[in-house]
Amino acid sequence: MTSTMELYQLLPKTNCKECGKNSCMAFAAALMARELTPDDCPPMKNDPKYKENYETVSGMFSTTEGATETGLIVHEELCFGCGNCVVACPVNVANDPHGVGAGKAPKSTDKLILIIEDGIVKAQNVDECRRFGKNKILCTGCIVTCPVEAIEFV
Ligand code: SF4
Ligand code: SF4
Ligand code: SF4
Repeated sequence: MTSTMELYQLLPKTNCKECGKNSCMAFAAALMARELTPDDCPPMKNDPKYKENYETVSGMFSTTEGATETGLIVHEELCFGCGNCVVACPVNVANDPHGVGAGKAPKSTDKLILIIEDGIVKAQNVDECRRFGKNKILCTGCIVTCPVEAIEFV
């Protein structure tokens, strides 16, 4: 994902405040936090001279449409079902110690977060994900074990 500064560079940088923020930098921060959308900047949306930038910024955020509430996105077109992420997920391991915890196929998929279905990874029980909620840690098990960057957190 992009940074606030990269987003800012694509905005009109006029600090006109039409978006309700005091500056384009504040708007960029609100975009990053997903409090506002690119459409909330009227000059960028409506002025033809910003058309290209508007499309670029909108494109950056359209990738988040399939995200779960934890921000997890599976890029299904990239996943080839290797299962690395399934056995790397600590929640999966804790809930299925004799299946994925032992590096094998899941014995029970009920309580797992990542499972393989039709050769592609699917996310379920995402509220159990350790990147999410009040006790979250910066778990990256699934991301770092995927050879093709098919899992992303936005
Ligand atoms: S409406 Fe757009 S140009 Fe105006 S301050 Fe907000 S982000 Fe900047
Ligand atoms: S971030 Fe960690 S807990 Fe969440 S799905 Fe990935 S490996 Fe599992
Ligand atoms: S590690 Fe990547 S390619 Fe392998 S199953 Fe998981 S998401 Fe798919």
